[in-house]
Amino acid sequence: MADTIKKRIAPIARLLDLSKMIRLSGQSDIFPFYHVISDFHLPHIRHLYRYRRLNEFEKDLEEMLKWFEPVTLADYLEVEQKGNGKRKGKGKGKGKGKGKGRMVLTFDDGLEECHQTIAPLLKKKGVPAAFFLNNHFIDNRDLFFRYKASLIIDEVLSDCKAKEKAAKYLVIPEEKVVDAIRMVKYGQQELLDELARQVGVDFIDYLREDPVYMTSQQVKELVDWGFEIGGHSPDHADFSTLDPAVMISQVKDSIEDLQQRFGVFSRFFSFPFTSDGVPGEVIDTLLNDRVADVLLGTAGLKKTGKQGFIQRIPMEDYEMSFKDALKTEYLYYLMKIPVGRNTIRY
Ligand SMILES: [Zn+2]
Repeated sequence: MADTIKKRIAPIARLLDLSKMIRLSGQSDIFPFYHVISDFHLPHIRHLYRYRRLNEFEKDLEEMLKWFEPVTLADYLEVEQKGNGKRKGKGKGKGKGKGKGRMVLTFDDGLEECHQTIAPLLKKKGVPAAFFLNNHFIDNRDLFFRYKASLIIDEVLSDCKAKEKAAKYLVIPEEKVVDAIRMVKYGQQELLDELARQVGVDFIDYLREDPVYMTSQQVKELVDWGFEIGGHSPDHADFSTLDPAVMISQVKDSIEDLQQRFGVFSRFFSFPFTSDGVPGEVIDTLLNDRVADVLLGTAGLKKTGKQGFIQRIPMEDYEMSFKDALKTEYLYYLMKIPVGRNTIRY
């Protein structure tokens, strides 16, 4: 619903003045997030969403730095906790460079490109970022089920015999195979493993030949370079399907495993997929019991009404520049002010 509206208002948003919209919204801080930046054909991702090329991301970064001051997640939280979110002089400066809002840049899923492409570029530009990792996938020990789906789709689209086999196994017409694979849910992963066997895709071989995720050594290097890391759940579960107690233990386990393995003290967590379906009481327990210092969602520019619970802008949902995407997010936010729908309801 929100995505459809955003798509429809994007051409109008493009014509509007970003600084005015930021001022009118009262939301001067932003949290854009990505998964991967690559100039290469990535069969495990390309059938899920369009990712940015390096030169496109460099343009995004240039725009971001014009409008926002990049800060670490830890610094952002420290200021929030001290000032209860109110900073002196915030937004009072005139012209570019003064009164800039803050920006915390994050990347989910711990993909190999984070170490090889993204972090080196950010280091060069002096831009901090936080990377969120699925514990079971570090060192390429396993593959997120959505990436498995993309790999199988890649195979059936490039080999008609594979498509035939998949259709036969699923007992559906060939033209429905791709959509059916896309619809496989978290609890149905075995279906993907069996389907892969049927069409001749070997996930272990794929991971061995072409690593998808960062190794432990690469994660250590990220931390040594000054980047932040956080948990993204052990195996990228769909939290809306979990019991509240399991949600809490997954957040705890994911964060504590990273602390032990990489010697970090931070307690950051980004919900896999979305924080929709996570009850308000679970969020409160996680934050009040200090299981996590911050919890991140993916609902775009939106208030949560809870300090330490932050929604981010999913940049890969937008096939447009950072500035146009941001204008769309702000216009959508402004449109909802009269109906009071900018804060998550529990
Ligand atoms: Zn993810």
